[in-house]
Amino acid sequence: MKSRRRPYAEQRPQDLGGGVWSVPVPIPGNPLGYTLVYAIESPRGPVLVDAGWNHPEAWEALSGGLAAVGLDVSAVSGVVVTHFHPDHAGLAGQVREASGAWIAMHQSDAALVRLMTEYADGKHEAFQADMLRRAGADPGEVRQVAGERPAPPALPDRELRDGDLVDLPGRKLRAVHTPGHTPGHICLHLEDADRLFTGDHVLPDITPHVGIYPYDRDDVDPLGDFLDSLDRVRDLGPLDALPAHEWIFPDVAARAVQIRHHHEEKLERLRALLVQRPEPLTIWEVAAMMTWNRPWDELPPPLRGMAAGEAAAHLRALEARGQVRRVPGVDAVRFHALDS
Ligand SMILES: [Zn+2]
Ligand SMILES: [Zn+2]
Repeated sequence: MKSRRRPYAEQRPQDLGGGVWSVPVPIPGNPLGYTLVYAIESPRGPVLVDAGWNHPEAWEALSGGLAAVGLDVSAVSGVVVTHFHPDHAGLAGQVREASGAWIAMHQSDAALVRLMTEYADGKHEAFQADMLRRAGADPGEVRQVAGERPAPPALPDRELRDGDLVDLPGRKLRAVHTPGHTPGHICLHLEDADRLFTGDHVLPDITPHVGIYPYDRDDVDPLGDFLDSLDRVRDLGPLDALPAHEWIFPDVAARAVQIRHHHEEKLERLRALLVQRPEPLTIWEVAAMMTWNRPWDELPPPLRGMAAGEAAAHLRALEARGQVRRVPGVDAVRFHALDS
């Protein structure tokens, strides 16, 4: 993921007006650069939307950035995270320790955090290696793809469902369930100000990773969910978007339509590729055929793992549309296009 434009304004704390501030919190070693954490004024103390990566440098940027706009991290009354990823939920626990704030997230991501907490003792590595073999990765790659994982985020105190109002006295901040990037991703609609905090769901230039985990699941369709979630955002109208990465932009509905179009084209290109290759292919073989931001042979193994997850999500979406069929095998699952 690379950005075409990095406006300076987003790289320092900003007063966005209407009792909303943004604070960029660095993600060390990640090309995304930073997470935009937002603070919303409330009589009980500010509520944060996301918290940033769990790292001392990030904590300095968050607490210092809040202070720079006149807010005190020890006065924070709550942290609502858009999804469980470490660049969003990572620091929520430390904010809670410093302030006594509650942490809220969607119940589907809360369930994943509980699962990650249970699997934090090494059980996960064996599970992942088995999944990579079934996807057709060779044994050398299996060892290389399974990289280091950050510790699971803090367990939330409150679980949200679609349509719930976040505890923010005097204002209306509503959870809009937008699954796809994660099963429990939410956007947050500040209804009294026509603003939408979009998390990673809708970003101005890049598109979020949408994968499937484990890769060969056939009981969920994250890409199908993601496309439906784009329609949900489109239907909210031309709100101002406050995303978690890149920069703030107007008319979230127009961008949602554009991203949907991008994925429809990508699905159609993949279907056309599969039609030309009638023999059943593994997820790994399909991922190697698709277009990424650099040639497959040059993708470092952990990024190949991400790409395979994305290829798998596209295959699953085509299967759900009746355009692709899976062939279970003893070694690996394979896919082929259906005549249409
Ligand atoms: Zn994310
Ligand atoms: Zn993110």
